[in-house]
Amino acid sequence: MPELPEVETIARGLARAIVGKTIRRAEIRLPKMAIAPPGVSFGDAVAGERITGAGRRGKYALIELASGRRLVTSLRMTGRLVVAAPGEPDFPGTHVVLHFSDRTRLGFADVRTFGRMRLVEQGEPWDAALGVEPLSSGFTQEAFLSMLHRRTTPIKVLLLDQRRVAGIGNIYACEALWEARIKPSRPAQALSKPAIRRLHHAVVDVLNRAIEMRGTSVDDYVDADGLRGGFQNALSVYGRLGEPCTRCGTPIVRTVLGQRGTWWCKNCQR
Ligand SMILES: [Zn+2]
Repeated sequence: MPELPEVETIARGLARAIVGKTIRRAEIRLPKMAIAPPGVSFGDAVAGERITGAGRRGKYALIELASGRRLVTSLRMTGRLVVAAPGEPDFPGTHVVLHFSDRTRLGFADVRTFGRMRLVEQGEPWDAALGVEPLSSGFTQEAFLSMLHRRTTPIKVLLLDQRRVAGIGNIYACEALWEARIKPSRPAQALSKPAIRRLHHAVVDVLNRAIEMRGTSVDDYVDADGLRGGFQNALSVYGRLGEPCTRCGTPIVRTVLGQRGTWWCKNCQR
């Protein structure tokens, strides 16, 4: 499932590949995956639009249009946004295609069809429920401390709550907690101040390292050029059941927390 580093990598690829292009037409093969405001036709609205920017908010990929509208794409479990040259085949499960005037195109593929590309009007507060960006200046140690204050929620469940910190999913929650040597089920309010500072540092560090390696491809994730990421080779706990902890040698365990698989070291995470 694409999380912040994967979507950031996709957005940077889109910024390189499609900014400045003009959408000739949208080909919508599965209508539920291309959503427009009431009374607006997605296809009519985007035809003729020029792409002015690409970015990311939380786990959403953003494509800015010259009219001030934007396309907000949620990739959910298996979504992909991949740029294709003329004659290049579509990825399997391509349900929405933006055809550009230079004959290249952007395909939105999702074999499980949970992903959505939404046309959002200028000024529409579509992201009002999303919390702070963990790589922004707003994610200070103080902000993180007050976020955890008096919360009885297990710390890992809190890290996954997009209303608090936007963009962290299962992979990077597991990795950051291992790096900070914190047991995933600890109630947030039970963490000491030094532990919270370690975790704050670990969240930023693991996200930055994963972006440098262009994301984690443990499943379907590919970037905007159709290429896999590299961070799956640098994972410390995620998906490593029974393998030795790289810090202490204890076999990694998997438990379930908040209905999500959780990988951690029983010896060095307390
Ligand atoms: Zn360990």
